[in-house]
Amino acid sequence: MMKTITCTACPLGCEISVAMEDGKITDISGYTCHRGEAYARAEATDPRRTLTTTVRVQGGGSPLVPVKSQKPLPRGMLFDGMKEIKRAAVKAPVGIGDVIIKNILGTGIDIVATGRAESV
Ligand code: SF4
Repeated sequence: MMKTITCTACPLGCEISVAMEDGKITDISGYTCHRGEAYARAEATDPRRTLTTTVRVQGGGSPLVPVKSQKPLPRGMLFDGMKEIKRAAVKAPVGIGDVIIKNILGTGIDIVATGRAESV
């Protein structure tokens, strides 16, 4: 099986071809630098994305505060991660970097605030 991956590690956007057999990489071509090779390897075998969304705030001046995962989560866990964040609520005040959900879905990765919510 051949996958084509567009490298997003820099604006050049190289198209990298990754050949795979039984879930293992057998060949990679099309990258210009080693960052791209590493990116394509990770994307082909363990694709991850940073989860960004908002969480409800109780007792704050605004009803929502923006949050993100401190590190990229496995792509297959993003939907369940969103559901868990949707169920959560945090009490104002909230500061940038505050941990909103610790160890989401047992990944060892925290969901942290990227904005502030003052209490009223
Ligand atoms: S392979 Fe290297 S040069 Fe090409 S897009 Fe990725 S980081 Fe940029």
